[in-house]
Amino acid sequence: MTSAATDRAPVGVAVLGCTGSIGVSTLRVLDRHRDAFHVVALVAGSNHDALAEQVARWNPPFTGLVNGASDSRYRSGANVLVEAATRPDVDIVVNAVVGAAGLDATLAALRAGKRVALANKETLVMAGPLVAEAAAAGHGEVVPIDSEHSAVLQCATAQGALPSRLILTASGGPFRTWERDRMAHATIAEALQHPTWRMGSKITVDSATLANKALEVIEAHYLFGLGYDAIDVVVHPQSIIHAFVEFPDGSMLAQLGFPSMEIPILYALSHPKRLPDQGVRRFDPLAAGPLTFEPLRHECFPAFALGISAGRAGGTMPAAFNAANEVAVDAFLAGRIGFGDIATVIETTLARIACDVTHSLTAIRAADADARRLAREAIA
Ligand code: MG
Repeated sequence: MTSAATDRAPVGVAVLGCTGSIGVSTLRVLDRHRDAFHVVALVAGSNHDALAEQVARWNPPFTGLVNGASDSRYRSGANVLVEAATRPDVDIVVNAVVGAAGLDATLAALRAGKRVALANKETLVMAGPLVAEAAAAGHGEVVPIDSEHSAVLQCATAQGALPSRLILTASGGPFRTWERDRMAHATIAEALQHPTWRMGSKITVDSATLANKALEVIEAHYLFGLGYDAIDVVVHPQSIIHAFVEFPDGSMLAQLGFPSMEIPILYALSHPKRLPDQGVRRFDPLAAGPLTFEPLRHECFPAFALGISAGRAGGTMPAAFNAANEVAVDAFLAGRIGFGDIATVIETTLARIACDVTHSLTAIRAADADARRLAREAIA
């Protein structure tokens, strides 16, 4: 879809993962832009009550509940994501599903020529080349919602040259200053205390291990076509600057603001245009205070380097990394392993899995399944 949001109104939007943190923020943004956008489909995972409230408020033509077989009010089953994403009245699919479950909907939407406003970074990490192929085949496009990647896109749009280097910022998470021994025994509550962002539990734990930043480097590699040597990460505890973008002439642009997902969400809907919006807090450098930067402490955050190695290996390794991480985070949140075990489970899994250099969906699904099995064995 190349028509911008304001070329013809209203633009049809499907929100997948509508009851999660990004889904709720998306509806808040859409509520301020009812003239430009029309909510056509709402799909939740399993939260009946939150979905019922949203449906009452938005009355969309299509509603789905993935795990809702017992609820006759909604369409249910894994296929509802694809059904919603490929409807003819949908122009933009906001994919805010958590984890590997979002892949099919992204591919199907792109093949159907939709814009995918992507918060589901796991999709790109697992299957970056397939996502690009689907977009090319169907004339669809991916526009990132992830704040760092939105920052890169905002800096890179209409520059007349492609970025030559990126620096993604990382808050450092709740354990930025902790020693490794202390981190090994961190509690679930401590891991969920993110200093600057309020997010769902999976991505919050990923932000505590810095696996999230590895996923984001891989995501940036596929989105912006840069090699891994051209994507750096710096710890920036205030989360004010979201990314730096260097151009071939040595010029560096950065995008900044108080942490809020509503700006990247609105930009993913309106790109390359910008819509007026009074709903977000205006930036004030004095209120932001000093901005500081630190190197990433690799010895304390081994999940980061494991993810980057998987990205560099390519083929099915990023999908295996993602799957092992999902299983390990689930186990941590269920109280079955310690915080320090998350990286160990990933490392053990990746050491035992074979890398398939092909990018077929079959190979990716096999790697995903193998990695999940190996990770569960490592946990047991
Ligand atoms: Mg991010």
